[in-house]
Amino acid sequence: MSSNVSTVPAYAAPTAKAPLERTTIPRRAVGKHDVLIEIKYAGICHSDIHQARDGWGEGIFPMVPGHEITGIVTATGPSVTTFAVGDRVGVGCMVDSCRTCDNCKAGLEQYCTRGSVLTYNAVGKDGEPTHGGYSTHIVVDEAFTLRIPDGLPLDAAAPLLCAGITTYSPLRRWNAGPGTKVAVVGLGGLGHMGVKIAHALGAEVTVLSQSLRKKDDGLRLGAEHYYATGDDATFDTLAGTFDLILSTVSAPLPLDKFLGLLTTNGAMVNVGAPEEPVSLNLFSLIGGRRTLAGSMIGGIPETQEMLDFCAEHNLGAEIEVIRADQINEAYERVLASDVRYRFVIDTATI
Ligand code: NAP
Ligand code: ZN
Ligand code: ZN
Repeated sequence: MSSNVSTVPAYAAPTAKAPLERTTIPRRAVGKHDVLIEIKYAGICHSDIHQARDGWGEGIFPMVPGHEITGIVTATGPSVTTFAVGDRVGVGCMVDSCRTCDNCKAGLEQYCTRGSVLTYNAVGKDGEPTHGGYSTHIVVDEAFTLRIPDGLPLDAAAPLLCAGITTYSPLRRWNAGPGTKVAVVGLGGLGHMGVKIAHALGAEVTVLSQSLRKKDDGLRLGAEHYYATGDDATFDTLAGTFDLILSTVSAPLPLDKFLGLLTTNGAMVNVGAPEEPVSLNLFSLIGGRRTLAGSMIGGIPETQEMLDFCAEHNLGAEIEVIRADQINEAYERVLASDVRYRFVIDTATI
């Protein structure tokens, strides 16, 4: 690709709820601070499905999803200092932010008070729609480009850019570690990384899954206990047990039941982003001084910290690599909780 605006192949949802199909999209010229990345792998996050089917509303179509991107730098702008051609890099959910608000200055670009620029389904500072990782190339400012440590293969590293950081950030903030009991609700893309990371941080990990179908996997990934939430006895057995519950569930949960599993002062943190609102009885929080919280991905410095942590602990995602023409089928399998544990698109097949 030259440094002029280029047209590259991609997979896009042409309209809300339509299947994704092959198309071409423009990529901007490589600017002073930009790197051009040849994308090798793109993970399929459940957020891609929420957005491609317009479940959260206000989607921009045609939409090229994908915010779990790994690849190789193939060109750099004249002012780029942190990356060189040939570097192994990643891009997550954000490609820009205001960079001047208190949150941006604190490395919390995901909470930019003026709104960060998302990797897709957003409008960039140039006024053009952003397009995600289901494509062969992307141009990104070096400040929003991550370095993939040598120990991590590019395919298994791709899901870390969203599933990894989205679980790492709240686990760190709510002090998961030796002596803490952590429950991870939902053993999907986020959940399986939550189990691996919480275990690596030293916490005692329990998986709360709809059934015991994936119990062997959960224990192998680092959980010590595994319970089915489809069995009401689980909620009696585990009442008052957990210091931290991390919910990765994509659908509304009966919050009162889950809050009853917290210790006094325990916290339930939701990273799952259901399309419907949820309700709760506030007595579930009042009795036991409990906290109900949310958390969104992580900032750029913390994302790099997470990648380095995962390399050090040898934590890649468990992946099933697919061809681009299998994306629609993969979406159906994610919706059916039939993913073990992240689909990753080999972008050479686009
Ligand atoms: P996923 O791979 O589909 O995993 C979600 C898991 O939740 C499923 O595997 C299933 O696990 C469980 N589940 C699904 N439907 C359920 C239901 N009706 N009741 C109970 N459990 C159910 O999805 P993901 O990619 O990990 O994403 C999970 C959610 O996080 C999505 O809503 C996504 O948009 C959101 N997300 C948020 C952020 C953030 O920054 N906060 C970032 C990324 C993704 P079991 O089979 O084990 O029950
Ligand atoms: Zn995601
Ligand atoms: Zn900002």
